[in-house]
Parts: sequence; structure tokens; C-alpha cells
Amino acid sequence: MPQATSRTLSLTNIASLVTNDPAQGDGGPLGLIENAALVIEDGKVAWVGPTDRAPAADETYDAGGRAAIPGFVDSHSHLLYAGDRTQEFNARMSGRPYTAGGIRTTVRATREAGDAELAATLKAHLREMLAQGTTTVETKSGYGLSPEHESRALRLAAESGLEEITYLGAHIVPPEYAEDPDGYTALVAGEMLQACAPYARWVDVFCEEGAFDEDQSRTILTAGKAQGLTPRVHANQLTHGPGVQLAVEVGAASADHCTHLTDADIDALANSATVATLLPGCEFSTRAVYPRARRLLEAGVTVALSTDCNPGSSYTSSMPFCIAIAVREMGMTPDEALWSATAGGAQALRRTDIGRLTAGSRADLALLDAPSHVHLSYRPGVPLVATVWREGVRQG
Ligand SMILES: [Zn+2]
Repeated sequence: MPQATSRTLSLTNIASLVTNDPAQGDGGPLGLIENAALVIEDGKVAWVGPTDRAPAADETYDAGGRAAIPGFVDSHSHLLYAGDRTQEFNARMSGRPYTAGGIRTTVRATREAGDAELAATLKAHLREMLAQGTTTVETKSGYGLSPEHESRALRLAAESGLEEITYLGAHIVPPEYAEDPDGYTALVAGEMLQACAPYARWVDVFCEEGAFDEDQSRTILTAGKAQGLTPRVHANQLTHGPGVQLAVEVGAASADHCTHLTDADIDALANSATVATLLPGCEFSTRAVYPRARRLLEAGVTVALSTDCNPGSSYTSSMPFCIAIAVREMGMTPDEALWSATAGGAQALRRTDIGRLTAGSRADLALLDAPSHVHLSYRPGVPLVATVWREGVRQG
């Protein structure tokens, strides 16, 4: 039976359109087209180019001289949690000692929470992210730390419709295994993995002093790979640890944080398909030293930007905010930061259908109340995202 002809929508009068396709427009990495139009059909981009050459469409939407960008790809977040850590943040920012449990507080609250509460928290954050232009979100478990609680969190993520779900049983060693970290590693690589793998695409490890060492991390990542999951690694956040080298060794899609790197770490990343994902909201929120983004970029490493949205160390869901910090504090150019928050995030998730706006890609985009994407860093803290389309459907 012939299919009904699908309706087409043309967005016209776009002052500047970031395509992230160097074959378009000015030929730079952003493939910037001025005075552009974009045609959507069947949830995908059917055509991009100058407005005066746009093909006829069934419907037209006048972008009113705004800028259009690919929807942000937030490739690192921790949204499967319950509880509140306001007091801890307040104490840290006020220079007061704070001894209550940190991440363990979240683990306790998450274990005690019902499914509906966890799902509602996740949904609220996803809504908040969408309103700020994020159309793809990766999120992780890591506050359950038992087969039952980790698999429950990942099941709820899958039920919410998320595509990019990460098993992070190796976030910290839970209190009940404090005397037996190798026993916990065996659980994460064994029974817990079996319970979680059906819901996840990725396996992640917090490879850091005080969390999981190189051998434990390798055991877990290798076991995850054997179950069909692809590794990503929390690496070199607090110290010059083995995380980045291990990420490259196991073929991880991304090494995340990359705050403390040696030249050898940078060489390893530059000669691999592993993306360096920088999470400057974390350094901002903990008053820590930022990663050296310029060093990575100059070495030819692919850099992604992400929020690391979590209740402990980076409670922002805003990619525009992370872009502004990346430009101000890490020396990235406005163009580089925008690329890293869209195409870079897509690469960190090994996706070619998102993070770009070119014929065939998913019609995930944001219109900005601004004539250029540069305003995302030029006007920090201003809610510039006007309208979002996801898979061709206008949101909100
Ligand atoms: Zn994280």
C-alpha cells in the first residue's frame, strides 16, 4: 500500500543556522549558514540552505531572525536519585565543615524512595533540560549500588523513553562493602551487571583514588563489554589517575572529567576514538581548578561538553551555562564550545544522527532569542532558548 505523503515544515528567516556540517555555509566546523531555512519531514531534516533557495513546503514557520542550533547533547548526567543536598552545598560554600555523608546521603535516600518518586524526579529534570535546548540526555545509575536498586533505576530510565542509559554500579563502594571492595567489584561485574545490562547501552566506572582502582575498573569495564555494553569512564577528575589510559585501552566512547592529565594522557586521547568530555559545572560548583581545554584542542583531541547534572558536585541542568563557563574559564571559543555541546556530545555517544542539522539527521533543534549562537556565552545566565523541536515536533 502506498504511504501517505508526509507533510513538510519549513523554518525560514533563520538569521544564522549552525549545521555542524563543514560542507555547508561558511565551510567551518559549524557549517554556519546565514539567512537560512531548514525543512523538516518525518521527524528528520530534509533540507538546509539559504532562505531564497528553500524548496516549497506544506507549512512555514517564520523564525523571525533568530539563530538556530542543533539541540544540545548532554552526554553525562546522574538523574536517577532522591534526596536533597542543599545543606552540604551551603556548608561547603560557606566554609563550614560538613561531616554528613555526601554521596552516601543520596544513596540512602535513593534506596528508600519509591519508583514513582524516582521517576518524577527524572522527568522533572528532563523537562528542565528540554526547556534549555537539550534534546538528548545520557543518564546513569550509581545511587542504588545493589542489583535490586541499580536495575530498578535503569528500568525507570528505560521506561521514561531515554535512549542513552549507563550502568554505573561502580560509582562508589557502598558502606556495607567498605571492608571488601574486591567483593563489591565482583558483584558489579557479576550479578549486578546481569540485572542491569538489559536496560543499559553503556557501562561506566568512577576510576579514581577512593573509588575504583585500575584493576577493579578494568574488570568491570571488560565484563560490561562482554555483556554488549560500551565503556565510558569517569577519569582523572581529582588526580592524575589511570582512568584516561584505561578508557583508551578498553575503547571507551568517552573519558569524562579529564581535569588532571599528563602529556601521555593527552597523546593517548589524541590517537584514539575516545572523546574527552569536560564537565566544567563540576569545577564551578566545587571551586576546583578547570580542565585545560585548550591543551586538549590543540593536541587534536575531540572535546565534548556536558553538565554532569547531579545533586552533589554539579547541580546544573543547563548546557548554555556550561558553554558560558567553557568560554570564560577554559579559553574555548564560542564556536568550539557550541560544537562540543552538540556534535561533541553526539560523538561521545557514538551517534551520527544527532548533534548536527543536515539532510537525514534528526530534526532536533533549538531556536534562540538571539541572532547568533555566540550569545550563549556573550549573555551568560539569560534564558535564550525560545523554542525547541525534537524529532520534528515542536515542544511545549
Ligand atoms: Zn559524573
